[in-house]
Amino acid sequence: MKIAIVGNGIAGVTAAKSISENLPGAEITIFTDEEYNYYPRPLLDRLLSGSMDLNGMFPYNDEWYGKKGIRVSLGDRVTDIDTSSKKINTSKSGACGYDRLLLATGASPFVPPLEGVPAGKVFAYRNIADVLRIRSFAGDKKKAAVIGGGLLGLETAKALADRGMKVAVIEHNTRLLPRQLDEEGASLIKSRIEEMNIEVLLGAAPERVDADLFVVSAGVRSNTGLAKACGIGVQKGILVDGGLRTDRPDVFAAGDCAEFNGTVYGIIPAALEQGQAAASNMIGRPVEYKGTTFQATLKVAGIDVASIGIVNPEGEGYESIIRKDAAKGIYRKCVIKDGKLAGSIIIGERSVVASLARIIRDKIDVSKGRDALMGDDAALSGIAMKGSTN
Ligand SMILES: Cc1cc2nc3c(=O)[nH]c(=O)nc-3n(C[C@H](O)[C@H](O)[C@H](O)COP(=O)(O)OP(=O)(O)OC[C@H]3O[C@@H](n4cnc5c(N)ncnc54)[C@H](O)[C@@H]3O)c2cc1C
Repeated sequence: MKIAIVGNGIAGVTAAKSISENLPGAEITIFTDEEYNYYPRPLLDRLLSGSMDLNGMFPYNDEWYGKKGIRVSLGDRVTDIDTSSKKINTSKSGACGYDRLLLATGASPFVPPLEGVPAGKVFAYRNIADVLRIRSFAGDKKKAAVIGGGLLGLETAKALADRGMKVAVIEHNTRLLPRQLDEEGASLIKSRIEEMNIEVLLGAAPERVDADLFVVSAGVRSNTGLAKACGIGVQKGILVDGGLRTDRPDVFAAGDCAEFNGTVYGIIPAALEQGQAAASNMIGRPVEYKGTTFQATLKVAGIDVASIGIVNPEGEGYESIIRKDAAKGIYRKCVIKDGKLAGSIIIGERSVVASLARIIRDKIDVSKGRDALMGDDAALSGIAMKGSTN
C-alpha cells in the first residue's frame, strides 16, 4: 500500500510510525517543506534561548526513519493534489501516486499588521527557520517585545529574557493567558512573571513599545490551502469525521490542520491522538476519534501551570470551587457540572495534575467527593479509583 503523508510534524510522524508498525511492507513517504527531520516544537524555546543547539532537537535520526521503512523527502513542498487520479505534485519529487493520503500540514502563525512598527523588526515564531532568523537578527540587541500573552508568548518571552534581553509582553486583552486561566490565576502569574524582570503590558498596543525586535505570538491559522485548492471541504480547518476522513475517498487529515466537530485543537495531545486514529483507519482498522480534552501545561519562572477542560464556564449549571494560597503561589479551581468535573486550573501544584486530568477525561462522578477535589494527590487518586470501580 502506498501511503503519502504531507507534513513531518507530530501528526504526520505519529501516523507514519503507527502505519509502519502495523502494516509492515507499506510504502510510506513523508513530504515536508522544512529542511529538517521531525522535532518537537516546544524545544524551539531552548533553541531560541541558546540552552540547546540544533543537534539536540531531533528525537529521530535518519537511521530511525530507515529502520521503520519511512522515506522522508525534506525541503519538498506538496503543491497540488489530484484526488481523482490519486496523485500529488511536489516541488522536488514531481508527480507521486498514492493509495492513501494524509494531510498533516499543521498551522502557520497569524501575524497581524503592526502599525508603526517597521516590518523588518517583526518575526513569526513557528519553526526552526524562524528561530534561526530571530537569533541572527537579535545578535547583541538589547530590547525585545513579544506580541501576545498566551501560552506561547510567555514561553517565548522567557526564552528571550534567558538570552539576556530586556523583554516586554504586550497583550491586547486585559489579562494574561485569557484562554487558559481566569482573572485570579492570571494575576498570580503576572506577578511572578514581573518578578523575572519581564514587563507585562495589558490592554496595550505594540506601537507604544520601543523595541529592537518584535516576536508575534498572536495565534495560528490551519494550513488549509492545499486541501481547498483541490475542492476538499474546509472551514477553519480541513473538515474530518470521526475516522479523520475528509470528504474525498482515501484522503485523511490530522493535527493542527484538521477541524473535528467544529474544533481545531492546535495542541500536541490532539495531533498525536488524531495521527494515531488516522493511521489506523488508513490501513483499514476502524477506530473512532471522539475528540481530545483541552489540556495545557507550562512552566514559567519555575511555576507549574495547568489548564484542563472548561475553566471559564459560560451558561447555566456550572459551579466553581477554589483554593488559593498566594504566599505559596498556589491556586486551584475546579469547575463542576452535573456532578462531574468539567475543568480545572492548577497553579503551583504539579503533583495533582495527572489525577485531575483523569477525573475530567473519564467523566468520573465527583458529587460525593467534592472536598477531596481540593485535597492532595492521594485524595484525588481515591476519587479516580472509585470512578474506575463504579
Ligand atoms: C514554540 C512552540 C511551542 C509549543 N508548545 C506546545 C506545548 O507545550 N504543548 C502543546 O500541546 N502544543 C504546543 N505547541 C503547538 C504544537 O506544536 C502543535 O499543536 C503541533 O506542532 C501540531 O502538529 P502538526 O503535526 O499538526 O503540525 P505542525 O507541527 O505544524 O507540522 C506540519 C508540517 O507540515 C509542513 N507543511 C505544511 N504544508 C506543507 C506542504 N504543502 N508540503 C510539505 N510540507 C508542508 C509544515 O511546514 C510543518 O513542518 C507549540 C508550538 C510552538 C510553535
